[in-house]
Amino acid sequence: MKPIADRTAWLKGGDARCATTPPRPTRTMRLVLLGAPGVGKGTQAELLCARLGTCHLSTGDIFRAAKTSARTEQTPALAQALECMRRGELVADATVLGILRERLRCLQCHGGFLLDGFPRTAAQANALETVLKAEGLALDCVLDYELNLEHIVARLSGRRTCPRCNAVFHLTTKPPRVEDTCDLCNATLHQREDDRPESIRVRMQAYRQSTEPLVEFYRERGLLMLISAEGSPEEICERTLAGLGGL
Ligand code: AMP
Repeated sequence: MKPIADRTAWLKGGDARCATTPPRPTRTMRLVLLGAPGVGKGTQAELLCARLGTCHLSTGDIFRAAKTSARTEQTPALAQALECMRRGELVADATVLGILRERLRCLQCHGGFLLDGFPRTAAQANALETVLKAEGLALDCVLDYELNLEHIVARLSGRRTCPRCNAVFHLTTKPPRVEDTCDLCNATLHQREDDRPESIRVRMQAYRQSTEPLVEFYRERGLLMLISAEGSPEEICERTLAGLGGL
């Protein structure tokens, strides 16, 4: 397994730099993860990045990191974005795209990237296509994870996250070694506000309305790979790597 890349440049944006640069992989992969909330994209992103050496570029992690920063450091657009996130609604495209434009360097990283939670709307997918073209880059594949609703609800309600280092656990499939405590930094784990039933409903609706159409968008471009998200995280990861190996 490769060490998990430092993500400072992605999480902070602007002039922030990562402390370490990733080793140059044999093949630089540039991937997008699609799938409804709860299919396990975040867990797959971590496992895949450790295997492929890519960097986990999650827009949700940027917002979660910003949530813990001082209120005075938050711009009005960011404060509004965090309120949308709390309710399970999508953040405005202009805000998300502004955030991406501040982090173009991460797309250029020679380690490659795995975008998780972006793009989520047609406007974001079009903007990503334009940005990548302008940067002289191309996606290798868009992985679309599929899982039935019953499994999704079980995964979301058991998920616990670390408010300090963003590590993700699950009460039944990936329990922490010590109850309610992060294995990596010992902080007390919590349930994401948007993993509560009311927010889950709003997020599923947002997914169906705004993100599901992207499956067709990427199918038309010959980039889509459908992957069953049933089974353990390791099984799903192996299935994904087998698919990518065939590219
Ligand atoms: P995630 O961790 O990807 O589930 O994202 C958590 C929340 O952050 C979402 O429910 C949205 O409120 C917000 N968010 C993250 N990425 C995006 C995006 N690309 N577009 C709009 N909202 C986003």
